[in-house]
Amino acid sequence: MTICCTGIAIGTTRGIAIGEVHLLQRGCVEITPRFIDAASIPDEVDRFCQAVSIARRQLRSVRNKIPNNTHSDIVAFIDTHMLILNDAALVEMPIEHIKEKCCGAEWALQLQRDMLVQMFDEMEDTYLRTRKDDVDHAVNQIQQALRQEVEEEENEDLQGKIILAQDLTPADTILMRHLGIAAFVTESGGPMSHTAILARSLGIPAVVGVHHATRHLHNGELTIVDGEKGMVLVAADEGTLSHYRHRIEVERQHARSLQRLIGEPSVTIDGTAICLMANIELPEDIDATREIGADGVGLYRTEYLFVNRNSPPDEEEHYQAYLRVVEGLDGIPVTIRTLDLGADKQFYSSHLNPESSVCNPALGLRAIRLCLKKPELFYPQLRAILRVAAHGPVRIMIPMLCNLWEVYQLKAMIEEARMSLTRQGVSIGEPVPIGGMIEVPAAALAAGAFAKELDFISIGTNDLIQYTLAIDRVDDEVNYLYDPLHPSVLRLIKMILDAGERHQVPVSMCGEMAGDPLFLPLLLGMGLREFSMQPGALLEVKKTIRTLDSEKLSGQVSHLLSRLDDAETAVELSRISHTRNSWPAQSS
Ligand code: PEP
Ligand code: MG
Repeated sequence: MTICCTGIAIGTTRGIAIGEVHLLQRGCVEITPRFIDAASIPDEVDRFCQAVSIARRQLRSVRNKIPNNTHSDIVAFIDTHMLILNDAALVEMPIEHIKEKCCGAEWALQLQRDMLVQMFDEMEDTYLRTRKDDVDHAVNQIQQALRQEVEEEENEDLQGKIILAQDLTPADTILMRHLGIAAFVTESGGPMSHTAILARSLGIPAVVGVHHATRHLHNGELTIVDGEKGMVLVAADEGTLSHYRHRIEVERQHARSLQRLIGEPSVTIDGTAICLMANIELPEDIDATREIGADGVGLYRTEYLFVNRNSPPDEEEHYQAYLRVVEGLDGIPVTIRTLDLGADKQFYSSHLNPESSVCNPALGLRAIRLCLKKPELFYPQLRAILRVAAHGPVRIMIPMLCNLWEVYQLKAMIEEARMSLTRQGVSIGEPVPIGGMIEVPAAALAAGAFAKELDFISIGTNDLIQYTLAIDRVDDEVNYLYDPLHPSVLRLIKMILDAGERHQVPVSMCGEMAGDPLFLPLLLGMGLREFSMQPGALLEVKKTIRTLDSEKLSGQVSHLLSRLDDAETAVELSRISHTRNSWPAQSS
């Protein structure tokens, strides 16, 4: 018998995995008061001490499994938890509670946790206030050990496991990848969340938004994750398993066959050259980008530098990271996006801006808004980008522009950084082109004004769709409304492309829509010629481009856009978006 739960497909290129479930508990178990008689105190103390030792051993074992070349922040993240697990406030005080209050170890630990968290909450320093998450992480680890869930896990390898969790942060996703997991399933989250984008980019099959998954899946159970269809199958019969094993093999062969396109031109059948660039974020993306022969990097997300840190990176760290990318890409142009912290990229931003994260982070102080408000955070990055421009072709790209004055303010800051570097005699190379992401409807409607001020424009459809359709990209409850083919989204994309053409400013697209072959005929027909996507999608996109006729598509898409007010057109577009079935322009 095969039991199936469905969630949201995140559409990885290697979308299927088969493996055993490993349930990742994250503080979801309620601890209730439990009291013991005086005679049981020594045993209870002993039980608590053993749980602490197990938690420490487990953490050490995770740390030992991390490869040497892993980003130092991942290791620092684990080291912080190790320090907390050795802190007397966490490991000695509960023993006092057990002795004085005659309570069970779980409740003693919970009392101490509540006290520590209250202390953190009362702190002036916003950064210290947010450290309570680390305390919770360490506490959860001990609580799990008390529940004896991790005793067998201690020596367990996560290699090849299917991780099941309530939710995963982007930092967890990176860590999981280093631990060699096969796939993950989460109860919440959306396909455009940063966690899902990272999973796609890392080639981890995943299904997100599987409500109550933890009720249906159990530790150790053999499970199939179909990341393309958004399905999780348990208790699969032999027929189903062999069907999926066959699909995994077909995927592998397909990936191998795509390799033949490396070095082949990206041109439509009517001879239109299409620029295909990569979105990068992690150090490992550099090799992938070079190997597939991308024309450039259309989006370098720099937030990764902020993962699990106690303090922001300084100018030198920014510079060294960008230098690694520029040198590693060996002459391929790199578009460095300035910090887009906040909203779905809550790395360091909750330290900077804890209030915003509890209100409405997607509409809050994120990206360029945060950077202009915190020049001490932004200047080091701007200076580092200018410095790295002496070593190769780079461009600066600003996320989440909404007002023209943001561009003016940014340009003034860049000029100030340039002058100060020149005064210091630091080499800064050629002037760096400055571009902006159009990902807010207000900016799309005013795209002409932005085009006049910028050297290039990139359409960020992940956010443009979120803001146009008023749906939080990380909220699985409204994910069914996420629709790249909504008539309003199409109109806005067309407006941006037209504005670029009017002002002769190149327009690219770097949202997930750009890497999805389903939307290629439409985007080519609209006039888009530059696409940037996760490296794993590039060859598939190139393959599709080589089968399309851009001239024919242009006529078909103009006709389609002229009918956007027709109910049938809207219904048809919505059908395509949701079923991912054939594109009308191709079939007509
Ligand atoms: C976008 O919004 O489309 C985009 C590419 O940026 P991010 O996903 O990093 O917000
Ligand atoms: Mg964005």
